[in-house]
Amino acid sequence: MKKLIAGNWKMNGSVELACAVAAKLQENPSAGDNADILICPPSIYVSLIDSNVLLGAQDCSEHESGAYTGEISPSMIKDAGCSYVILGHSERRQYHGESSDLVARKASAANKSGLISIVCIGETLEQREAGRAQEVVGEQLAQSLPEGASSQNTVVAYEPVWAIGTGKTANSADVAEMHSFIRSELDGKVAGYNDVRILYGGSMKPANARELLATPNVDGGLIGGASLDAQQFIEIALAAGDN
Ligand code: PEP
Repeated sequence: MKKLIAGNWKMNGSVELACAVAAKLQENPSAGDNADILICPPSIYVSLIDSNVLLGAQDCSEHESGAYTGEISPSMIKDAGCSYVILGHSERRQYHGESSDLVARKASAANKSGLISIVCIGETLEQREAGRAQEVVGEQLAQSLPEGASSQNTVVAYEPVWAIGTGKTANSADVAEMHSFIRSELDGKVAGYNDVRILYGGSMKPANARELLATPNVDGGLIGGASLDAQQFIEIALAAGDN
């Protein structure tokens, strides 16, 4: 399966950065030969990334339109040229109180608008240390996926919360175990479960990308910090092509 290398800029960036990253990606077209490259900038910058990469948003409303000040609907995201939307990122779960039920409603709305939902799940350090990582991830997965989820409209991102933005990465044995568990949980619940891309996210960078991306059932990466540096992001995409 072709890997998906997705950059999550979070609330970072500027007009200057968006234009610089677009230019850099255009100068390195081979980065996309063996991996699909996706950038999810703050939505306001989407139209500035005039490059042959895929575009996505970092969140969407569960509603289609109406009096929801500050929100952006899935169809608007699609209309602006995006094909993906990240949902249920741990920062949204933590700082905006998003529940898995809400994530499932957003994913359902996104999929109905023709977007591919990247549904994020992952345990905290406390939960891992208590031996509850699989229980937590299994529960989040079951509750966050909407009816009708399939390999065509859904990507799962496993992001251990303790590895996001901390420089700590899960070791490849733990990643292999969790991704295999996620794959088995998708069996029977999601159409085409074997073809659902399962991304790893959490301090992925050029130095560890090759090993992580070579891990069984790791079908790409969700990259925060390193996606803000076009050179690093391209190196990760090239590493994906080596697997
Ligand atoms: C993320 O925000 O999804 C992420 C994985 O961030 P970082 O790569 O910075 O850990």
